[in-house]
Amino acid sequence: MLRRTMAEFDIKAGLLHVLQRIDEVILLRSKEIQAARPLLVAVSKTKPAEAIIEAYKAGQRDFGENYVQELVEKSQHPDIVAQCPGIKWHFIGHLQNNKINKILSLNKLHMIQTVDSEKLATKLDAAWSKLKPASEPPLRVLVQINTSGEEAKSGIGTKEAPQLYQFITNNLKHLQLMGIMTIGAYGFDYSIGPNPDFVSLMQVHRSICEANSLSPESVLVSMGMSNDYDRAIEMGSNVVRVGSSIFGYRAVKA
Ligand SMILES: *Cc1c(COP(=O)(O)O)cnc(C)c1O
Repeated sequence: MLRRTMAEFDIKAGLLHVLQRIDEVILLRSKEIQAARPLLVAVSKTKPAEAIIEAYKAGQRDFGENYVQELVEKSQHPDIVAQCPGIKWHFIGHLQNNKINKILSLNKLHMIQTVDSEKLATKLDAAWSKLKPASEPPLRVLVQINTSGEEAKSGIGTKEAPQLYQFITNNLKHLQLMGIMTIGAYGFDYSIGPNPDFVSLMQVHRSICEANSLSPESVLVSMGMSNDYDRAIEMGSNVVRVGSSIFGYRAVKA
């Protein structure tokens, strides 16, 4: 199932380039933006185990996948298990109810970035408490927000987001709510101005902090991919999900 379409792409060089760009762009942030140093999540979907191991050896620890089955296979891959003991998996795809137990049973699952309804959150909370011993820390999650308003995109609406945030924080003790995430529209033309999805997510961030009396630094913001992670960081993102700039182009998934 995992494809081997890697051309001779220099993964280590790709990774180091992205890390260097992150360092540069933090300095461009305005003084009002109080955000932690961005976490780089290397998006390894469609890439083989060797690619992940190569990035791990170059120092990368956080990896993102958006297909449950592919993530299950990779998390159990003997070479990854043996050579990447400190790996942290982030799930960044749409999560269906019937895959919840599968994903929560994963070894080294670090965070689910795509919780977008009370129903899904409640199911995750119940499943975590059933599957894990009481001593296990809660499951880290982000609330996914549909900032572009496109019907086809997952995510809760910007208006409803603060309420979902509050609901999870107040009611679901087996979830540790860490922040918010957006995917946004593809192919924004930056010559027009700032990306409206990023503007919108930062507005939601402000509303959530105000409504719940939280400090801005305590609510993570996951936005930005290969073509715009630098712009996202400039606007206050502190989790960027970068795939092709690290691993090279992906063959389109059938
Ligand atoms: C594929 C994917 C990314 C990374 O995309 P690139 O353009 O390759 O950096 C980031 N976030 C999500 C949710 C994705 O599905």
